[in-house]
Amino acid sequence: MAIIVIDAGHGGDTKVGGSSANNATAPEGTLEKDLTLDIAKRVQRILSAMHDVRMTRQTDVNVGIAARAHVARDAAADVFLSIHFNGFSNPNVQGTETLVWPGTGPTEKSYVLANLVQKATVGVTGYRDRGIKDERRLGVLNPQNHLAKTARCLVEISFITGPGKTNAESDERRLKDARYKDSIAEALAEAIEAYL
Ligand SMILES: [Zn+2]
Repeated sequence: MAIIVIDAGHGGDTKVGGSSANNATAPEGTLEKDLTLDIAKRVQRILSAMHDVRMTRQTDVNVGIAARAHVARDAAADVFLSIHFNGFSNPNVQGTETLVWPGTGPTEKSYVLANLVQKATVGVTGYRDRGIKDERRLGVLNPQNHLAKTARCLVEISFITGPGKTNAESDERRLKDARYKDSIAEALAEAIEAYL
């Protein structure tokens, strides 16, 4: 049994400790913060059968960046997965990417986890593989906020401002399908299992 922390990005109505309440908003009004919690709970449900799964939030509240990481640190977690969705002004942009802390080498545990998460997620979304990115200093992934034993990455599942699998169906509409969301959650859970 491993200790796994699932972090649903954003939440609540105000900025807290560097964490914005919401980032991406889809054309018909779906909020990233609601989708991150939805997917996080599905992942929790799957992994809880085998592991000790902790959540950085369970409801529509915001939690500071460092406090999110400290849930993993305090639990001495094996894995920390932060779940986000992307958004962009150009509605044609679509793709899946996974972020690691700058300078994370390909043999490091966080990169190994990120690679598994990225491949599994692309396998379900079917969107362009935007790869593993390490340009942004994201507080939730900051080594200063974590124990060395914790593999950590942040997945940007898709652009909720973008098209779905076909241009006829937006990503936002696609994400209204519970079976699709279950598939994403299963892929994330399988990636974590594969890492472990
Ligand atoms: Zn986000």
